[in-house]
Amino acid sequence: MPPVFRFAPSPNGFLHLGHAYSALLNFDRARQTGGRLLLRIEDIDAARCRPDYETAIYEDLAWLGIAWETPVRRQSEHLADYHAALEKLSALRLLYPAFESRAEIAKLVAAREAGGPWPRDPDGAPLYPGDAKSLSADERTRLIASGVPYALRLDMAAACRRAAGLSWNELGEGPDGERGIVPARPEAWGDVILGRKETPTSYHLSVVVDDALQGVSEIVRGQDLFYATSVHRLLQVLLGLPEPAYRHHRLIRDEAGRKLSKSSRSTGLRELRAAGVTPAVIRQLVGLG
Ligand code: GLU
Repeated sequence: MPPVFRFAPSPNGFLHLGHAYSALLNFDRARQTGGRLLLRIEDIDAARCRPDYETAIYEDLAWLGIAWETPVRRQSEHLADYHAALEKLSALRLLYPAFESRAEIAKLVAAREAGGPWPRDPDGAPLYPGDAKSLSADERTRLIASGVPYALRLDMAAACRRAAGLSWNELGEGPDGERGIVPARPEAWGDVILGRKETPTSYHLSVVVDDALQGVSEIVRGQDLFYATSVHRLLQVLLGLPEPAYRHHRLIRDEAGRKLSKSSRSTGLRELRAAGVTPAVIRQLVGLG
């Protein structure tokens, strides 16, 4: 079976040089290995994603000379698949509803931090400080019936008991030079949110479900997602999904060494194209020339 690669941007801004690097690496790997390249539009965040950004993704990738298979998978059209995965985790008793608002969580964190440092996840966000896990079944039913919004959180301790000793095969490199068989540490993320009352999925859940449904065998993506791979491996095992290989790549940075953002105009592909930069020069700029 030929290897399957994917580029999976979110249409919440215009693509920049960092996206070009990731997309070109995927495209080149697919060509070198006789593999397939899929494009997936990760548009579950309805408040931030826009159709014009999606159109721009197709235009910019085609301009770079990248070809991908159709149809493109758009996550917003597959909520039933993610819902089914949540049901599976719920049947394993690994999910619980947490009813605190963002503001309430911030207050709880501040209260905990008053007593000393409170742990943060690898992205720097405080771990969930609440105790919704210990609400009684009656209390949960009452709160859900009252219509309060809630998030579905993974009971990380219980999940790690079911799937201990996980690792993944890193073909690229982590931020600290990690490569080869890397031990997974999903507990560093605490009780992550996997769905919400109004959106029955999350980045972690949909990426894992889609990579499996699309048969992706090698995931080529930026090092900013290296540590999230621990959560992805855990979900793959809990859901009985196959294990892909991972190839995390260095991030393209601006002159000041900062990670590129979708709003930084000087590195936007549209701006570069308007300034007369060619796709061949884009390759050189990201070190693939
Ligand atoms: N949609 C994610 C992003 O734009 C990438 C997901 C992934 O490659 O796993 O950052």
